[in-house]
Amino acid sequence: MRLKKIFKIASLYSAFRFDNNYFFNMVPRLKHNTKIVATVGPASHSYESLLALAQSGVHIFRLNFSHGTHDGHRSVIESIQKLNREYDFHLGILADLQGPKLRIGKMENEEMNIKPGDVLTFTNEKCVGNLEKIYMSYEQFAEDVEPGEKVLVDDGKIVLEVLETNKKDNVKLKVLFGSVISSNKGVNLPDTKVSLPCLTEKDLADLDFILTQPVNWIALSFVRSADDIIDLRKRVEARHHEAKILAKIEKPEAVRRIKKIIKASNAIMIARGDLAVELPMEKLPGIQKEIINLCMQWARPVIVATQMMESMIHNPSPTRAEITDVANAVLDGADALMLSAETAVGDHPPKVIEAMNKIIIEAEKTFSVKGRRPTPNSKSRTFLSDVICFNAAKTAVDVGAQAILGLTISGYTAFKISSYRPDCKIYIFSERSLMLGTMNLLWGVQCFEYKKYTTTDETFEDITNILKTQNLLKHGDLIVQTASMPIDRRLRTNMLKVCHVD
Ligand code: PEP
Repeated sequence: MRLKKIFKIASLYSAFRFDNNYFFNMVPRLKHNTKIVATVGPASHSYESLLALAQSGVHIFRLNFSHGTHDGHRSVIESIQKLNREYDFHLGILADLQGPKLRIGKMENEEMNIKPGDVLTFTNEKCVGNLEKIYMSYEQFAEDVEPGEKVLVDDGKIVLEVLETNKKDNVKLKVLFGSVISSNKGVNLPDTKVSLPCLTEKDLADLDFILTQPVNWIALSFVRSADDIIDLRKRVEARHHEAKILAKIEKPEAVRRIKKIIKASNAIMIARGDLAVELPMEKLPGIQKEIINLCMQWARPVIVATQMMESMIHNPSPTRAEITDVANAVLDGADALMLSAETAVGDHPPKVIEAMNKIIIEAEKTFSVKGRRPTPNSKSRTFLSDVICFNAAKTAVDVGAQAILGLTISGYTAFKISSYRPDCKIYIFSERSLMLGTMNLLWGVQCFEYKKYTTTDETFEDITNILKTQNLLKHGDLIVQTASMPIDRRLRTNMLKVCHVD
């Protein structure tokens, strides 16, 4: 009886290890090229829930600094690091700064009824809101707005128009649309030039904490110009932190200045929630396609965010529109798709990832980037390495290689090769462990830690053998390898080799 029990436990354990690709010490395989970013919240912040999400197929966890405490975020970061150690995952961490998000304050009643034609007053004096006065978290609001400008509350569910402002502390607004206003709702000002700095006091305090943590990406919300990114980069570099910087595109100004912002950033998020409120909503699909194409040209990974599987917060399956939206983002060529409330507060986060996996796998069967692939820019200071990276990817496609193998310290080679979207596996080795989680955001890139640099020949043999042991390559496979020679000088990628696996 006792023996039977022991046997049962042992077989359950080995099945579990097998499920997790841990049998024969195998690393988890990429299920598809398009990556998944999941926002962590009460529904997913425990170690067990994070593990379940990682096993379902999440590559990057997003910590939303609009919510939660530093202690809470620290504990999630520790759990993710533990998962990376225990399971050989390279889960990345994206710390998302709230930025100058405007909000109304607390209201007297949980819900207050309003109707078109009502006149409300927004003030910058702290107060509990009622039909007389509502607090708005924006000191210069009265100074910055002009009569006739629109003010949108609660993702545009309430539309107000500025009637008058005393240019000091009070603004009178007429309700054009909406029926219920409630506490702490977000406010968007599509017509107003907001004079708030991109990093608020809260962001600076959050950044101070974030820069003590091993995060891979720092996202900046409501970016308005490349200078916002340059400012954040200076602060990150001053603390010698290796995190890369991601610009959230959610303001019309950012769309107008998109090329400069892409150039200044390491990655982009199309933050469709606020973007579709700030811009005419019908512009969104076109802007999404345009930004993704530009990002591919500049080798900047791009995330499509918000309401991708919204109905699955509670429902067991997505709507037809959501299935099509996810598939279209894949076909547009996004590096990653992001889930917000679905994984932060939803009823069944792993189910959402499983459904998303299925849609992505099917969409990738017809994915094509022909005619959209980047070409090296002769004016770039990295032109020579760009030529090698792009030709590695192009050669792999031309000869029908099974995989491209690359080595990187800065991540540069992985960013470039991934941006070409080659129809083969991309295996990238790096000695920098933080970089492994960073590169996990990139389309198609699967990362491995490799610290032993000897000669180019030995390194190539070594990394090929690692992939063979993991059953990711086999004898006779055609591969394209890139490296920098001499290998111990750690220069930019400067050579490529095409060969069959021994
Ligand atoms: C968005 O607006 O789409 C978004 C991702 O931003 P946040 O969730 O931080 O409001």
